[in-house]
Amino acid sequence: MHFIKGIGNQFDVLSVFLSAGIALGVLVRDYTSLSQLEKQYFGFPGEILMRMLKLVILPLIVSSMITGVAALDSEVSGRIGLRAVVYYLSTTIIAVILGIVLVTTIKPGVSQSADNIERAGSTPNVSTVDTLLDLVRNMFPENLVQACFQQNLTKDYKIVGSYSDGINVLGLIVFCVTFGLVIGKMGERGRILLEFFDALNEATMRLVQIIMCYMPVGILFLIAAKIMEVDDWEIFRKMGLYMVTVLSGLAIHSVIFLPLIYFVFVRKNPFTFTLGMAQALLTALMISSSSATLPVTFRCAEENNRIDKRITRFVLPVGATINMDGTALYEAVASIFIAQLNNYDLDAGQIVTISITATVASIGAAGVPNAGLVTMVIVLTAVGLPASDVTLIVAVDWLLDRFRTMINVLGDAYGAGIVQKLSKRELERMDLISDVDAANPF
Ligand code: ASP
Repeated sequence: MHFIKGIGNQFDVLSVFLSAGIALGVLVRDYTSLSQLEKQYFGFPGEILMRMLKLVILPLIVSSMITGVAALDSEVSGRIGLRAVVYYLSTTIIAVILGIVLVTTIKPGVSQSADNIERAGSTPNVSTVDTLLDLVRNMFPENLVQACFQQNLTKDYKIVGSYSDGINVLGLIVFCVTFGLVIGKMGERGRILLEFFDALNEATMRLVQIIMCYMPVGILFLIAAKIMEVDDWEIFRKMGLYMVTVLSGLAIHSVIFLPLIYFVFVRKNPFTFTLGMAQALLTALMISSSSATLPVTFRCAEENNRIDKRITRFVLPVGATINMDGTALYEAVASIFIAQLNNYDLDAGQIVTISITATVASIGAAGVPNAGLVTMVIVLTAVGLPASDVTLIVAVDWLLDRFRTMINVLGDAYGAGIVQKLSKRELERMDLISDVDAANPF
């Protein structure tokens, strides 16, 4: 009871600041005429919050992955990793199928023509093969320091290939898992390194605690500045049915499918679990980035939902990079919507191609704002649609991105809860071994 109350309080505070931000944004937009620069100044406290969250991504991923893997023996970490990957893939595929069913039933693009919806911006200049090759290349960074602030490998385009604000997250994850396994096997000599990374992890989490105190203020200004910036609200009316399709898909996935899967495996109330993640979900909604939300996701999962650190350290960073149910669902809906706008009939083979490429594209998308929009080029080109038609949906992406990021984060958290339950026996055995070790240090 006390626990629920605690979560409720955190959630209340953030919701109050969030509503205040919306109101402030509307007021300032309607009753003042700020210049572009003044609007930028207005959003400054929000920008600082984003910078602080991004700042801790690197030490958090490195310390949590290395200690997470080193603390488990290689057989156990292999089994936990396998369970996580099976969960990631199956929930992503469920999300894609749900998206396809909804978009082919609601048919949001059939009544409108592409000419009624303006094409905006320029087309990303990137091919499917390049994107996939980049994904694999990124897993093997040639220089560790460079991987921490690397530019993308594909010429001309920046986000493709699991990059989070210049950090090659996928490459770091592959390195940290391998490094953690090696340290775990080194016995006494590896312990020094393990203790170092463990202390680094604790210190980073303390930093996160400090950032959380600033979070309500940052969120208020972040949302107010965004509301002021959007000048074309008419576009939401035009794209209404498309947005309703994506949002209802996300809602069904997060309120029915994910909770059901959690309940089947864990046998606990999934909605209490979701409530425990409330702060992380709101953060994702505000900042549209699973990677930058990671510090808050860790805190909520470990402190509110009591998930074992040995699981979160392993499952959450990988999930934030490759497990994106919301993005996968969105990619499937958006590509079929674009086909409908172009009066382009998709046959069964093309629908299957969309399911597969939407899954791959969601894995390839980095946990940063609008990454899904970019990797959608993979899906469009695979079924022969013009990649340039991504521009048809750009105008509403800033809003949809927020909601799909929320579902991406929720999917990762449920994954950690389920993997913990399935790995109970291994974790208990490890506890037993460490108790015996502590009793007989020599
Ligand atoms: N913004 C999403 C995330 O960080 C990725 C996407 O654009 O779909 O999870």
